[in-house]
Amino acid sequence: MAVPHVLIFPLPLQGPVNCMLKLAELLCLHQETHVTFINTEYIHQRLLNYTDVLIRFAKYPNFKFVTVPDGLPEDNPRNGDQIGKIIEGVEKVSSPLFREMVMMTTTTCLIVDGIFTFAVDIAKEAKIPLLYFDTISPCAIWTYLAVPKLIEDGEIPFKGNDLDALVNSVSGMEGVMRRRDLPSYCRATDLDIPIIQHVIKQGKHIVQAQALILNTFEALEGPILSQFRALCPNIYAIGPLHTQLKAKLASQSLPTSNSLWKEDMSCIDWLNKQPNKSVLFVSIGSLATMSKAQFLEFWYGLVNSKTNFLWVQRPGSIIGLEDDDINVPMELVESTKERGCIVSWAPQEEVLAHPSIGGFLTHCGWNSTLESIVEGVPMICWPYFVDQQVNSRYVAEVWKLGLDMKDVCDRATIERMVIEVMDVKKIEFLERAKQMSNLAIASVGEGGASYQDLERLIEDIRLMRI
Ligand code: UDP
Repeated sequence: MAVPHVLIFPLPLQGPVNCMLKLAELLCLHQETHVTFINTEYIHQRLLNYTDVLIRFAKYPNFKFVTVPDGLPEDNPRNGDQIGKIIEGVEKVSSPLFREMVMMTTTTCLIVDGIFTFAVDIAKEAKIPLLYFDTISPCAIWTYLAVPKLIEDGEIPFKGNDLDALVNSVSGMEGVMRRRDLPSYCRATDLDIPIIQHVIKQGKHIVQAQALILNTFEALEGPILSQFRALCPNIYAIGPLHTQLKAKLASQSLPTSNSLWKEDMSCIDWLNKQPNKSVLFVSIGSLATMSKAQFLEFWYGLVNSKTNFLWVQRPGSIIGLEDDDINVPMELVESTKERGCIVSWAPQEEVLAHPSIGGFLTHCGWNSTLESIVEGVPMICWPYFVDQQVNSRYVAEVWKLGLDMKDVCDRATIERMVIEVMDVKKIEFLERAKQMSNLAIASVGEGGASYQDLERLIEDIRLMRI
């Protein structure tokens, strides 16, 4: 029998690439499995520039990278506004090369992003199993799958302007979801836009895969996973993936990075000087942007809260800042010298694990949310788009691990929420976050549900070989 050979193809964005590299490493630890990891040239170059990924993976002779073009011009910023173009580029330019690769190599199975609908036909043609890995939250994917029902029931497009009206067409989420908590594209007045059409298409394709891999754990999303199993019987819930990998690499526990920007390690020295649980970490991830007006509201809110803060200002994340400088009031600059640290990119997992961190003002991307949960850090959520609207509702209302600042961006609210999480309700939030963190860690420990699902995935891949 040939050795198992898995082809992994992530959506070329920071979050999915990070997740899939972690899965690739977990598979490589089982030396029997060979892994080919497909990166777009753009992503690969950034990984080479800012990480030690080649050295790290050199210890796995069963691993190799392959690159494909993404079809976008060099100077495309590849941020959140460009997602439609990124997916289109992969479909048009990368996917034919991917198909060729599948046909020409002996491949046991494909593990690709859940948004790659083209993979269904390629897997069928090659007569090999397809495993979709949706790296966003199951609670959000569940709402994506409900889009046809939301349309059928007349819940979207919304009638009237009341975003607080409850939504009843997402099974299992009745009484929880308001219109404003649905994925951001549900606010569109015209359902004929590409993202909605793509989500509908994705829903039809997901159920055609042999299995679905999800980055979550039973204790966090058990009820949603049960709903999923009725639709796709074979689910591997193997998260939190970064913790699963850390647990497996425990003996060689140097922090690893899959960052597409250069990490500024000076923030760790700054954190080392701050009191325990005193610092609010502020980051909106790799895709979200904010206007200059929102940027100033954030800054005033942070300074007025009188809390220490570490703020990631990713290059390009404040719209127009690079072309046209703004006059930052001196009072902000002076107060920041006293209690703030600003960097352009941080080693986020290490930051969240630092004892001085007491809260996280986040855009609620799924990786950030899970990383915060694992470290027991309460959140203030300022979701930007797609799945983040759903995640922030779950963080605040279902898991009660923080506050939801959705659709609001004024200094008074930011100040009030920071004080609530970092001071007034600090102990309460920290205790709840600690309990969830314990459950997350237990899930990837020997015998835990995510641990067992990963073992089952590896064994199933072994049995798939031709
Ligand atoms: N991240 C990081 N340093 C930063 C900001 C973010 O390493 O300064 C990482 C973070 O740890 C997470 C990823 O970037 O793993 C962002 O993924 P997420 O799903 O949270 O959000 P997205 O960027 O996809 O919106």
